[in-house]
Amino acid sequence: MSSVAGLVFNIQRFSVHDGPGIRTTVFMKGCGLNCRWCSNPESQKRETEIMISNAKCDLCGDCALVCPRNIIKINSKLQINRTACDLCLTCINSCPRAALAIVGRRQNTDEVVAEVVKDELLYVNSNGGVTISGGEPLLQWKFVLDLLARCKQKGFHTALDTSGYGDSTALCNLLEYTDLVLYDIKHTDPRKHVEGTGKSNSRIITNLRLAANKRRTWIRVPVIPGYNDDRGNLETLALLARETGVEKVSLLPYHMFGVNKYAQLGRRYGLKIKPPEQASMLSLKRIIEDFDIKVTVGY
Ligand code: SF4
Ligand code: SF4
Repeated sequence: MSSVAGLVFNIQRFSVHDGPGIRTTVFMKGCGLNCRWCSNPESQKRETEIMISNAKCDLCGDCALVCPRNIIKINSKLQINRTACDLCLTCINSCPRAALAIVGRRQNTDEVVAEVVKDELLYVNSNGGVTISGGEPLLQWKFVLDLLARCKQKGFHTALDTSGYGDSTALCNLLEYTDLVLYDIKHTDPRKHVEGTGKSNSRIITNLRLAANKRRTWIRVPVIPGYNDDRGNLETLALLARETGVEKVSLLPYHMFGVNKYAQLGRRYGLKIKPPEQASMLSLKRIIEDFDIKVTVGY
């Protein structure tokens, strides 16, 4: 099998939130949605980026001196003209405080498999395996297909964590080598879906039916206060879960762990809301449970 290249932004070992047991999660870079609450903004663009840690940077100016394009400016904080950057990485290598980091590397499936096999024994002992997440795996489906096929060849349990916003044929191909689908639903209403993510959910709902028809599927809902936590949305979601026969719905409370990453990428974070209280998560859980659907708060 010849190796396939893809843009990966992280390989996380010992993951316990992305399917059963202890897993290795491979995060693909690039996503077709633009969720306003995204906690992994470094996953969104399908290109390599530089992240700046203002906490580590002491404004020494070494990086600005070596940049061949002269596009690093230092005032009260460091700024890079990202559109003019050719990612030569000279600045990253010159920083004495490791304040600059690259996110997103082209890797081939041979390299990624070499990484995931390191925890083979853990997968066996914990009923874990390998999860492909993102970003959106469907956007790099040829890479993901090869990776999943190689994992299955080694006997690993495989999970696909997807927003469903991608090509249906690509999804069908990936399902051949997928044991479990973790399927994100942000909103059941197409207009509200556009409001929160920039795209309609029609393709996502179609693909959910496709996935759930073929493979064990868990729906995952990021609960965003004031956006998708109303009774109407949750009841429609419960009906969809019942119709498609998914095993469970996981309600994942909004959190702010990713907010600082926006500044590190030179972007602004637009949401001004607080994480939901535990009591309110439990009442949302009961709304869906009333439809005889298994629901968890958290993973
Ligand atoms: S990666 Fe190269 S071009 Fe881009 S800011 Fe750093 S030194 Fe300049
Ligand atoms: S070299 Fe590193 S510490 Fe110095 S200004 Fe650049 S990013 Fe900041």
